[in-house]
Amino acid sequence: MKDGTAKTALVTGGAGFIGSHLIDALLAEGAQVVCVDNLLTGRTANLKHLENESRFDFVEADVIDRLPQKVRLGKTRFTHVYHLACAASPPHYQADPEHTMLTCVLGTRNLLRFAEEQGARFLLSSTSEVYGDPEIHPQPEGYRGWVNCTGPRACYDEGKRAAETLSFDFARHKRVDVRVARIFNTYGPRMRHDDGRVVSNVIWQALHGEPVTVYGDGSQTRSFCYVSDLVDGLMRLMDSEPAPGAPVNLGNPNELTVSDLVRRVLALTGSDSQVVHLPLPVDDPRRRKPDIGRAQAILGWEPRVQLQQGLEATAAWFADEQRLAARTAPRRSREVFSGVAAE
Ligand code: UDP
Repeated sequence: MKDGTAKTALVTGGAGFIGSHLIDALLAEGAQVVCVDNLLTGRTANLKHLENESRFDFVEADVIDRLPQKVRLGKTRFTHVYHLACAASPPHYQADPEHTMLTCVLGTRNLLRFAEEQGARFLLSSTSEVYGDPEIHPQPEGYRGWVNCTGPRACYDEGKRAAETLSFDFARHKRVDVRVARIFNTYGPRMRHDDGRVVSNVIWQALHGEPVTVYGDGSQTRSFCYVSDLVDGLMRLMDSEPAPGAPVNLGNPNELTVSDLVRRVLALTGSDSQVVHLPLPVDDPRRRKPDIGRAQAILGWEPRVQLQQGLEATAAWFADEQRLAARTAPRRSREVFSGVAAE
């Protein structure tokens, strides 16, 4: 630990793409880490390299339910709770919208109460989706958003808005010391190839010579942040003193259209995949770009990894995955941590 004190962190959603990178960074900092994940979208393969790490433990559980006894009543007293658990890709969070909404609301309430019991600091991973299809560009934290509360994205957007509400109510009532990160589009190694989001879809399709899917005319914009930058921002936010008392955007302001992204991926993979246009999903935001002024001022944070560099690293990782999948397809299973399964 930088300050010489022991950090004991609970990371929900730690088997996921961002969560597993966060765990690596916390362990590198000297922390002891327990991961809770229901493996709905997370994968134990993301944590396999930690099998013999004595400062790490994995517990399979769903945050909708009361945390398992092993976590609640174990010897470990947690100092920090990073609450990342929730499917985050539209096709995944829309597959079971009731579960998504309850993960956001009940899950966050359960973890806030747990942090309260433990006297732990709490960080909620919220999302740029709280801005909906934004009328203001780029999006500062003060913008209250334009969300369709009855649309197919609402289970996630409104769920996360409610999770923020709960978090700030716990903070206002001095029950928990809270931080809230609004995470913008993030990419990098360990994304699922079937994640359904544009970066993973396009890279995977390009590597396989499959048609590359552009939804709508491709003129909609996003701003993509490499995962190591995002994790650095999350850790700085958790460690910030005093608590900002307001949400903090974390993302890369480098905005580009989906068509631009596709052109870059096709060029860097040398793929001759065709581009096919599919219908634009309902309520798909037309543009998105974070205003990161608050993160710069409070955390001294800004992204460092250039898009080209990040896409190359991500494509290289997917190419390795592809080779591994071809060699070991029948053996891949979730039983990596059979010794420390849930109760
Ligand atoms: N998108 C696309 N092709 C795909 C997947 C997504 O054109 O194969 C589009 C999607 O409609 C959206 C943008 O890319 O406009 C980013 O989508 P993603 O699901 O990655 O993130 P989010 O919509 O949550 O920002």
